[in-house]
Amino acid sequence: MKGTISVQTENIFPIIKKFLYSDHEIFLRELVSNAVDATTKLQVLAQRGEATGEIGDTTIEVLLDAEAKTLTIRDRGIGMTEDEVQRYLNQIAFSSAAEFLDKYQDSAIIGHFGLGFYSAFMVADQVEVVTRSWQPGAEGVRWVCEGSPEFTLEKVDKAGRGTDVILHINDENAAFLERYRVEDLLEKYCRFLPVPIQFGTRTESVSTGEGEEAQTEQQEVPNIINETRPLWKKTPSDLKDEDYLAFYRSLYPMAPEPMFWIHLNIDYPFNLTGVLYFPKLGNAMEVTRNKIHLYCNQVFVTDDVREIVPEWLQLLHGVIDSPDIPLNVSRSYLQSDTNVKKISEYIARKVADKLHELFKADRPAYEQKWRDLGVFVKYGMIADPKFQERAMAFSLVENTAGEVFLLNDYKEKIKTNQTDKHGKIVCIYTNDPAGHDAYIRSAVQRGYDVLKLDVVLDNHWIQQLEYKSELGFVFVRVDSDTVDRLVQKDEQKESILSEKEIETVKTSFEKVVTDGGRVECQPLAPEDLPVQVTKPEFLRRMKEMQALHGMGGADFLDSYNVVVNTNHPLVVQKMVKLDKDEERQQLAQYLYDLALLHQGMLRGEALTRFVGNTLEKL
Ligand code: ADP
Repeated sequence: MKGTISVQTENIFPIIKKFLYSDHEIFLRELVSNAVDATTKLQVLAQRGEATGEIGDTTIEVLLDAEAKTLTIRDRGIGMTEDEVQRYLNQIAFSSAAEFLDKYQDSAIIGHFGLGFYSAFMVADQVEVVTRSWQPGAEGVRWVCEGSPEFTLEKVDKAGRGTDVILHINDENAAFLERYRVEDLLEKYCRFLPVPIQFGTRTESVSTGEGEEAQTEQQEVPNIINETRPLWKKTPSDLKDEDYLAFYRSLYPMAPEPMFWIHLNIDYPFNLTGVLYFPKLGNAMEVTRNKIHLYCNQVFVTDDVREIVPEWLQLLHGVIDSPDIPLNVSRSYLQSDTNVKKISEYIARKVADKLHELFKADRPAYEQKWRDLGVFVKYGMIADPKFQERAMAFSLVENTAGEVFLLNDYKEKIKTNQTDKHGKIVCIYTNDPAGHDAYIRSAVQRGYDVLKLDVVLDNHWIQQLEYKSELGFVFVRVDSDTVDRLVQKDEQKESILSEKEIETVKTSFEKVVTDGGRVECQPLAPEDLPVQVTKPEFLRRMKEMQALHGMGGADFLDSYNVVVNTNHPLVVQKMVKLDKDEERQQLAQYLYDLALLHQGMLRGEALTRFVGNTLEKL
């Protein structure tokens, strides 16, 4: 019989052919998935006792005949009767393909799921389906369609149950007649499908005979390309560490060993399985994207999970498999999908649980890994308020003495000494221990603790912690003020000098501080440094933010304070006793240069001049 597929819309075949050229390859996934579905349906019927008789080998075969220019997908599943071919291929499959293309017009769809059977016409000029239903007494049927709404349908002799989909590959898509190309695609999309899939044969050495007669022989064996029960579908208690590591290696052959992993398995309120690995991140924040592979019932969908997994969780590697992620909707829609939201939350919670568990089980080991984990945990805390709350139980900070504390414990440690007049707990930190050596030493001498916060994310992280006011933290960098004022207290300092004398000192310094620094006189302790350069926390952070957002300008933000200790002996006993402005300025210049030098800020011409002048004096 000849027929015409009832066309409600325009002819979809030209649209299918043009369908995103680079995505033509998905036809193989769609057709093999159909074969898998047909096979599992048969297995279900057999289990229920509805399909009786011999089930036999249900291996799906992909057959390549380069000469005949055909690629065949053969299954031994339920097959179709003539009626079913009419209904499923001519009506349902056709109209759902039309609907898909309609939807696809203006949106990117995850993994391009939904084109189904008709994706065959992306690569084939003619598609032949030879099928025989599992039902007793069913006859073979042959359906042929040449990329137009016309088709032919006839009865044929077909030996066994199941379906052959024979693609007559067109010239533009001749690449799909190359063995390695087909193998690549099967590897990419079908590697973990639940029914064995054979693609040709391969040679294998097998040992035959016993004892003296033992020898190895080359044998042709079926080339099964998939693993029908991938690791993430197995029960965690049946698995050993080595299994997880081996699976990781098979997914990412070049990557260093992961630190640990979580096995996901949930049925309600959505179905999701998977294994996520924690890679070794170090201080490297160049996000290793495309490392989480999304599957739907063991069919590979995509490795671009941007809209499904929040950015910070994309630092993880591994597999997630869920039939509950809608795949034929636009990517932008996904973010608002309730299942997708719940899935993100679930993963984030599992990750938090795992980290907490590791922390409790072996704290020293956890501390050792903190360098790698910290980046991830901090990223998560910045991005996800719920995670932040959970993470308080396993977030660590390290001080310049190398001691490690839980954030909450640290708070207790510094509370007495480092609470300011507003009741805030002041965390003093450095992001450059070598560069801030002078400041760190004086802070430590003053009985303060200094934290080492030197990873890229720390700037954001501390801001986030301050933002949570119930924590009561403020962070100041160790060079942001004189040690006396890092933790602001209501203290009146006694000044040795008169106001007039102070004014003279100030003027002398203002004459020599010509590069934007702001001179400030403070009656510090006599044993404190005579001059210190400080960079106010607030201005510095503003500047860092601007730099981060690629905004230049705003030079006033570059300014720093030059704090003159008007109680220092060199000022009290020497500077104010000098008669001439010039002499006072010389001394001011020298003290200022020393301060810059001490803090690693004396550079270029100024440094050369300083060294020259010093040598002259000797
Ligand atoms: P979907 O697989 O999403 O239902 P398709 O367009 O891929 O959509 O296929 C339409 C229908 O055709 C399937 O639901 C199934 O009933 C039938 N079909 C396709 N391929 C096979 C096959 N290999 N064996 C049996 N039935 C098939």
